Amino acid sequence: MAIPGILTRSWFDPFTLPVSALFLGGFYTVTGSLFAASALLTGLWLGFLYYELVHYRLHLSKADGGLLEYQRQGHFYHHFVDPNHCFGVTSPLWDLVFGTYRRVSAR
Ligand SMILES: [Zn+2]
Repeated sequence: MAIPGILTRSWFDPFTLPVSALFLGGFYTVTGSLFAASALLTGLWLGFLYYELVHYRLHLSKADGGLLEYQRQGHFYHHFVDPNHCFGVTSPLWDLVFGTYRRVSAR
């Protein structure tokens, strides 16, 4: 089974391991605990995995209502209407923080 390009683009690049090591070192410096640092790194990876899976789903399957439809409208607005707004894929949180949020109406 082929892995879709949207999922492989960043997971398997040569910087993944060094960047993860830097985050682990940073978390360890802040927490002083290898367990806590590992837990934070795992949370970071799981959040990134969630982002990638939602992004994949938004592009490659139909959303028929609910949260996926809301996310899809915002993300497609970013891709196909205005690339300077609606950067968030899973949530508009950072768009609200940085003033790049746009309310996207349904159809
Ligand atoms: Zn996209």
